[in-house]
Amino acid sequence: MSKIEKTLSIIKPDAVERNLTEEIKKIFEEKNLKIKESKKIQISKDEAAEFYKVHQSKPFYNDLCKYLSSGPIVVMILEGENAILSNRKIMGATDPKKAENNTIRKLYGLSIDKNSVHGSDSLENANKEINFFFKN
Ligand code: ATP
Ligand code: MG
Repeated sequence: MSKIEKTLSIIKPDAVERNLTEEIKKIFEEKNLKIKESKKIQISKDEAAEFYKVHQSKPFYNDLCKYLSSGPIVVMILEGENAILSNRKIMGATDPKKAENNTIRKLYGLSIDKNSVHGSDSLENANKEINFFFKN
């Protein structure tokens, strides 16, 4: 059954800094996720705190917000069949050490915090996160 979805993807500062943006975009396109929107931005720590609000009770929350706001990021809307789950599979496990071969995090992730990409984890969060970065 075909279920065309949209999801939010972020190329995090560690990957933008290493000029991996085009390589990562190519991986999404090869796996049939179309890049509908893309922009390179830098967000403030307050914006990162708002974006990662679901993690506010976690011990790593402050570092996470500092990190996402530490340099340019590329935010994208990806579209395709089962885009939300498909993107999560293409990204691999949160900890690059545990990610499967050929996933973005296995290929490029440096550590559990510098793990190169973010992807929405549910339909509800995908809609919220798309609105967060692409309000019109
Ligand atoms: P993301 O939301 O970035 O796509 P994820 O859904 O795989 O990643 P989450 O559990 O949502 O993982 O955690 C959000 C981010 O917080 C992770 O990408 C990672 O950078 C960071 N993080 C998660 N767990 C830890 C941890 N134990 N220590 C440090 N940072 C962590
Ligand atoms: Mg998450």
